[in-house]
Amino acid sequence: MRVALASVSMVGFTGCNTVSKETEKNAVVTAIELKEVTTPAEALVRLQEGNARYVADSCSFPHHDHKRVEETAPHQAPFVAVVGCSDSRVPVELVFDQGIGDIFVIRTAGNSVNDDVVMGSVDYAINHLNVKMVVVLGHESCGGVTGAITVAKPGEESHEAGKVNALLDIIRADVKEYVGKPESLNAAITLNTNKQVERIKACEHVQKLIKAGKLTVVPAHYNVHSGKVDF
Ligand SMILES: [Zn+2]
Repeated sequence: MRVALASVSMVGFTGCNTVSKETEKNAVVTAIELKEVTTPAEALVRLQEGNARYVADSCSFPHHDHKRVEETAPHQAPFVAVVGCSDSRVPVELVFDQGIGDIFVIRTAGNSVNDDVVMGSVDYAINHLNVKMVVVLGHESCGGVTGAITVAKPGEESHEAGKVNALLDIIRADVKEYVGKPESLNAAITLNTNKQVERIKACEHVQKLIKAGKLTVVPAHYNVHSGKVDF
């Protein structure tokens, strides 16, 4: 089994964000050992542990060094694919405290997979990279879902330029019961995330891998206030 030892040795390092009294107390952040992920259960644990470090402001930034760049140059072998929102507050590798070559990241506004380019990317990660897990990561205060459930007032015309309306129409189709109900934004976000999971799981090849215990496809939710990901 390949054991990749994160090469960071951050004695005196105080965490991902600003220095706080709390992190000063835990100032000695040691290198973490990352074992190769071989099962969906191990993938989940690694993401949960990474997010716990992020929430505690004690990131280890594994796999961020040039050695890792060289190590992954011949081929990539990410253990997980994450379909997340393009929202700048949800940087996938950071919120899971992972590094180069760890996560196959697909990000679009509203994290919908209802598009061949996006679903094709998910299928590529499953079929060719053999990821052990696919996470659809929705998040609090999602602008894509907010736009999708917001309806124009009578007589008001949309001022969106380019393809924004086309994007919102795709998301809207998945949350139609909440269109015109901005107070139900959280429910719409959850529904949108779950719909993408269903869509990925609908494919026969995905079902076979899940049945064989080689893959899981799960929804998750990111809290923009705490940084916590709930699976
Ligand atoms: Zn979003």
